[in-house]
Amino acid sequence: MAIGTISQKIFSRASGSARMVEPGEIVEAGVDYAMSHDGTSVLAIRAFKEMGCDRVWNSERIVIPFDHIVPANNETAAELQRDVRAWVKEQKIINFFDCGQGVCHEVFPEKGFALPGLLLVGADSHSCTYGALGAFGTGVGATDMAEIYSRGRLWFKVPETIAIRLTGSLKPNVSAKDIALMVIGKLGADGATYKTVEYIGPATEALAISGRMTLCNLGVEMGAKAAIVPPDRKTDLWLSGRTRQAYHPVHSDPGSYDYEHEYDIRDLEPQVAVPFRVDNVRPVSELAGLPVDQVFIGTCTNGRLEDLEVAARILRGKQVRVRTLVIPASREVMMQALQLHVIQTLVGSGVMIGTPGCGPCLGAHMGVLAEGEVCVSTSNRNFPGRMGKGGLVYLASPATAAASALNGCLTVPGIK
Ligand code: SF4
Repeated sequence: MAIGTISQKIFSRASGSARMVEPGEIVEAGVDYAMSHDGTSVLAIRAFKEMGCDRVWNSERIVIPFDHIVPANNETAAELQRDVRAWVKEQKIINFFDCGQGVCHEVFPEKGFALPGLLLVGADSHSCTYGALGAFGTGVGATDMAEIYSRGRLWFKVPETIAIRLTGSLKPNVSAKDIALMVIGKLGADGATYKTVEYIGPATEALAISGRMTLCNLGVEMGAKAAIVPPDRKTDLWLSGRTRQAYHPVHSDPGSYDYEHEYDIRDLEPQVAVPFRVDNVRPVSELAGLPVDQVFIGTCTNGRLEDLEVAARILRGKQVRVRTLVIPASREVMMQALQLHVIQTLVGSGVMIGTPGCGPCLGAHMGVLAEGEVCVSTSNRNFPGRMGKGGLVYLASPATAAASALNGCLTVPGIK
């Protein structure tokens, strides 16, 4: 068989092709698992009904976590969520995760749906996060999701692959978020449009799964269709006890990449994406001292246990100077953080803890900004109005966010 990338191999298998499918080729592929959340399920169900469909293709392969506005913030949200619950019951969808269980992109991998070699589609753009476990994860709109609800299949263009080789080792208080922001700053917000970004190299291999999730989560912020880290022993260990089925990892063959970039991260400094573009990336040191009104640590980008532990290490025994909100990405993360006294440390430092979910990331509730207010956030988007009309969102790592909370201004972590 011809050589191919992880993406080509996954699409070859999912489309039932006897040969290696090529980048640019249009294929109809079977989806292994589909995900939609409280927001997008409403639209997808509407489209599903308008298409005249009445039964989903497979009630065990559709995953619905409620995370975007949980608990509901008004009557409209409550009624929409009630209607989705009713449809879930009617369709006998067994993988339903109601309010408080966490952000979809954290719950989905934790519950064992994101496995190496699978084709995973979510009605949410950050479904690329699942590539951290060697899957092809991608986001689609509600009507495409309705088609998947109905037939479990969808048309795809097989993407080209950009390999990003990371070498060197990170300095203290520099993390996967800083790497991802650096790469986005170099390639631009449209630098990987409809391509797969595959992170490789020794510095990628050194990252824990949490860091790989952060890297892949931000893939769509440079337009990528998917972002993938080749699965390895760490992947197997993380999945141990979570898997729902056997999986078959695939790897890219030598010489199969369409483009390659290499970055040595040994001198990388903490990075920040300045409003209103995710690719407007600068070293934190250039903006240190900028007054901050709010700090938010959480989301599908940086709400995992390792992120909360970094914040607790920096805040332990001290008090934050600005309102600071920490939202664990899932109930599992929250339970672990409680057992390890991470939550107690954060609360003791004056931090507010929110219900696992998206929190203020989408500007709907729980920490919306006022006009002109500055927030240092560990999330992934800083366009106008993202966290409230007129708010200014500076995207950074958990370490930078915690250090900034401590000083009340944008701060290079490690400097008090
Ligand atoms: Fe989207 Fe933010 Fe929720 Fe992630 S945490 S799924 S980026 S709203």
